[in-house]
Amino acid sequence: MLDADFFRRWMTAAAASVDREAERLTALDSPIGDADHGSNMQRGFRAVTAVLEREAPDTPGAVLQLAGRQLISTVGGASGPLYGTLLRRAGKALGDAAEVTEEQLADALRAGVDAVMALGGATPGDKTMVDALVPAVDALGTSFEAASAAAEKGAVATTPLQARKGRASYLGERSIGHQDPGATSSALLIAALVEAAGE
Ligand code: ADP
Ligand code: MG
Ligand code: MG
Repeated sequence: MLDADFFRRWMTAAAASVDREAERLTALDSPIGDADHGSNMQRGFRAVTAVLEREAPDTPGAVLQLAGRQLISTVGGASGPLYGTLLRRAGKALGDAAEVTEEQLADALRAGVDAVMALGGATPGDKTMVDALVPAVDALGTSFEAASAAAEKGAVATTPLQARKGRASYLGERSIGHQDPGATSSALLIAALVEAAGE
């Protein structure tokens, strides 16, 4: 069973990973965006760890909803509302249970990814974070490690795609040949689940 501490560890591990990879995320956002994805994510996840320490939410659902709200209010870019929606919607789906199963987490993240697609209008193949998140939730039923590998594979597979959503889509065919920054940060977020579980 996964308790509030597990979800706090997840968010803390994600924040640490974003800190380590911020320069790379910004470098990926430079040829097909506005070179701010690393700093956007860093600002957002630093605020998430701070608010989780300050308010100490005590259920999995409350941790994710608070984290999501914080991302929405601190990240100006497209990724803030999208990641915020992912976590808020997943948190809502977990309700107020003190502990949840891995299956419930998988279902909740599925609901979160559906909400991201509804908000941003992207579907798999549009060269966005959705390309990492959808395969990740598909593999979550197997293990966190399988989900992490699927997310990483999905992120790498965005390279030959032409962007159809977000800033990169303004470039048309010139967006081809670059890995999507948001799909890359999504892979970091899912990899942090493995760390939180101590797998
Ligand atoms: P901005 O583009 O506003 O500067 P970021 O650089 O922080 O925001 O985030 C860019 C990432 O957000 C993209 O790489 C892409 O993965 C994701 N993204 C942008 N628009 C959408 C959308 N409509 N649906 C899903 N993901 C999107
Ligand atoms: Mg950007
Ligand atoms: Mg921006």
